[in-house]
Amino acid sequence: MNHNYDYDLIAIGAGSGGLSVVERAAAYGQKCAVIERGKMGGTCVNVGCVPKKIMWLGANLAQSIEDAASYGFDLGNNGFDWAHLVEKREAYISGINKWYYGYLKELGIDEITGDASFIDEHTVEVNGKQYSANHIAIATGTVPTKADIPGAEHAITSDGFFALESRPDNVAIVGSGYIAVEFAGVLNSLGTNVTLYLRKDHVLREFDSLVSTTLFEELQKSGITLKTNCQIESIAKNDDGLLEVKDNQAHMQTGLDQVIYAIGRKPDHDRLQIENCGVEIDSRGYIPTDLYQNTNQPHIFALGDITGRAPLTPVAIAAGRRLADRLYNGQSDRHLDYENIATVVFSHPPIGTVGMTEEAAVAKYGDTIKIYQTSFTAMYNAISGHAAPTAMKLVCLGKDEKVIGLHIIGPGADEMLQGFAVAIRMGATKRDFDDTVAIHPTSAEELVTMR
Ligand code: FAD
Ligand code: NDP
Repeated sequence: MNHNYDYDLIAIGAGSGGLSVVERAAAYGQKCAVIERGKMGGTCVNVGCVPKKIMWLGANLAQSIEDAASYGFDLGNNGFDWAHLVEKREAYISGINKWYYGYLKELGIDEITGDASFIDEHTVEVNGKQYSANHIAIATGTVPTKADIPGAEHAITSDGFFALESRPDNVAIVGSGYIAVEFAGVLNSLGTNVTLYLRKDHVLREFDSLVSTTLFEELQKSGITLKTNCQIESIAKNDDGLLEVKDNQAHMQTGLDQVIYAIGRKPDHDRLQIENCGVEIDSRGYIPTDLYQNTNQPHIFALGDITGRAPLTPVAIAAGRRLADRLYNGQSDRHLDYENIATVVFSHPPIGTVGMTEEAAVAKYGDTIKIYQTSFTAMYNAISGHAAPTAMKLVCLGKDEKVIGLHIIGPGADEMLQGFAVAIRMGATKRDFDDTVAIHPTSAEELVTMR
């Protein structure tokens, strides 16, 4: 402990990144505090991964109930109680929040509640009280955004989605990324009429074309209305409380319960007074760091979504743990490798992807890239008659066909990916895949039997 300061380390933000760095630092005997203005656990736990996954699981069940008749069950769907699911979901989240408070106490980490603002590069203020630290980790995350159009105040974002107390009947979702396609699938499966407004002509445009095209077609088949190259220009609220939107194709959509914006997130430094500590921010408000999470200020680090790099929970956690390993456990070269980060989109059906897309690989390596791909109907879906597609692709490089990209869409893709991500990180080749004996009958076996 450096006795000039109150703490060895203060993390600002008790989300995935902030909690992980103080947790690991405390394990190395450092005196730590974490400052949080909202709920313990940050975005992921309260208004992100966790509530989203619970809604996704509920939506899957709705599909399974429909499929059950094909398997000989006379179930019938006698209704869905949104409020019940939300109550169970929030109780589960409260349990996580409470667990964190106990866990921090057990580790001897002080939890400071309130908005942190910088006084100088070693000092922050919360509710008028100052706290100093040798090191400060900024892990303040991002907040959702809306378009700046007339009537935007009537629209909600993902935060508002998780505050809904009843199931909306008619919804417009704006956006083409993770949240837009995940919410579209959840709401559609739970019985809401969904219109998806895409600014361009596709969903998940950064993803491999096999998975994004398959998802686009599946969204259409599932009854979601897709409006391409279409942007909402204004939103109005009628006397009956319902919303109507006018788009740039001169169409009007009326009778909407909600308009949900899912067009990306942005940093929110409003109250952080970051200028007082001299940390640079880029033109979009993110804090640039090197691979070691160093900012331009020697004692201040940034991690998680606020760095604008791969905004995913496990990335924030991994960066936080490695930073503590480096600072307090003598692992001087320890840092997160931002390559080959696996990610799952909890769409219907889900997508799992790791490594380069075919498009990026061909642009970089030309005709040394070989593609293996397959599309089929999984056994479960063949019986149920619910024709959810499964498609898989391996992107292989050079003579030894090193697998540098793996993309899956289909039921089970979410749970299939993790093990393959290990193989790819270890540099597996197509031959390694082929030499791995298949597990039968599964969808995953197709990944080791592709020709
Ligand atoms: P956050 O978790 O956002 O934590 C930042 C914390 O800092 C917040 O709690 C905030 O209140 C606090 N804070 C900010 N400023 C201050 C201040 N001045 N003083 C005190 N406290 C402050 N990722 C996945 O990997 N898988 C998923 O399935 C997934 N689903 C998602 C679904 C949705 C709807 C959303 C929105 C995100 C999802 N994500 C998912 C992304 C994931 O939630 C984020 O990548 C992750 O939470 C980032 O962690 P973080 O620590 O950087 O920031
Ligand atoms: P994304 O970055 O995934 O997608 C946002 C997309 O919205 C853009 O790519 C853009 O696509 C489109 N867009 C941008 N501006 C506008 C506009 N003005 N009007 C219409 N469309 C617009 O952001 P999300 O908000 O969906 O999610 C934020 C992040 O959270 C994700 O990047 C992801 O890292 C994380 N997340 C992870 C999840 C998971 O791991 N399963 C789930 C949810 C979120 P285009 O250019 O095609 O128009």
